Amino acid sequence: MKRNILVIPGDGIGPEVTTWGKAVLEEIAKGFGHDFSYDEALMGHAAIEVTGNPLPDETLEKAQKSDAILFGAVGHAKYDNDPSLKVRPEQGLLKIRKELGLYANLRPILLFDELLNASSIKANILKGTDILFFRELTGDVYFGEKTRSEDKNTASDLMIYHRYEVERIAHKAFEAAMKRRKKLCSVDKANVLESSRLWRETVQNIAKQYPEVETTHMFIDNAAMQLIKDPKQFDVVLTANLFGDILTDEASQIAGSMGMLASASVGESTGFFEPIHGSAHDITGKNLANPLASILSVSLMLEIGFGLLEEAKVIIDAVDQVLKEGYRTGDIADETTKSDQILGTKEMGQLVL
Ligand code: ATP
Ligand code: MG
Repeated sequence: MKRNILVIPGDGIGPEVTTWGKAVLEEIAKGFGHDFSYDEALMGHAAIEVTGNPLPDETLEKAQKSDAILFGAVGHAKYDNDPSLKVRPEQGLLKIRKELGLYANLRPILLFDELLNASSIKANILKGTDILFFRELTGDVYFGEKTRSEDKNTASDLMIYHRYEVERIAHKAFEAAMKRRKKLCSVDKANVLESSRLWRETVQNIAKQYPEVETTHMFIDNAAMQLIKDPKQFDVVLTANLFGDILTDEASQIAGSMGMLASASVGESTGFFEPIHGSAHDITGKNLANPLASILSVSLMLEIGFGLLEEAKVIIDAVDQVLKEGYRTGDIADETTKSDQILGTKEMGQLVL
């Protein structure tokens, strides 16, 4: 089967890290005999400079035709403290998500044992953590009606969900759970919120179609605590937009650096795969960026986007091996790292390759 992959390197460290994600993808295609074709497109500041538009029509057309997108980051220092600039890099990202109908945001929290200090208590709790979050992206208080009273002293945000929104993301999450450890925890606040009662009822109904999956429900406050207390109990976690926003940021700290975390946004057709970090202007062009988040985004593309589980695992194992051998980029190095094993972007990318 031929698969078209669109690479959007974007701005800042985006191009530096995406180079290595793509190189790993090419190596996998070669090794396993897959027919992948590649195209490239502009987005963000890089696109504004050339076309005046953070998401040029050409990029959107290529994206719509692709089977998967590997994205880097968008952003540039000049926009940070200047709200007068009306055309902004991040508009490209928001628009492409909307145009592609990406309603589910997936964030795996994968902790490499080698990045733990084995003697600390924390290490015992965290060791072996491997969670895949599904955060709903189109509903909730973000998109419900917002009001402010005339005297400005009262405000409200409507927390709203439609059954179809819960159903479609629940299916994605159950399908992923079937390919993992067959455990799914749905997180809500159904003791208090009506939208959460709809959420829970809908997830319970969908669960009947996946009898092999052990489904549990947890209130958000408890989930926030359990995540710190015993993260290993979770496999797939399914939750709404607001709860997912908070819970995935909390969970990201389990894995250590932002330079280690990948994410995927999926919907009806093509999937969008990217590191969770941004453009990081402070380290741009210095060969300091950790390319592992982009490389792990490619693993996620193979797993979630294409269902190529063995190929995805080969990448994880390669990263694991390099870490086991003691190699680190600056962001994940600590006092135990030998100075000649602290690598730049290129050296780390090459080693994984
Ligand atoms: P943006 O505005 O696009 O979000 P940012 O400047 O806020 O970009 P982030 O990418 O969000 O930067 O990251 C914050 C900091 O974390 C960076 O300034 C950088 O020092 C560090 N960092 C982020 N990603 C990496 C990486 N891949 N490797 C090493 N350090 C990183
Ligand atoms: Mg940032």
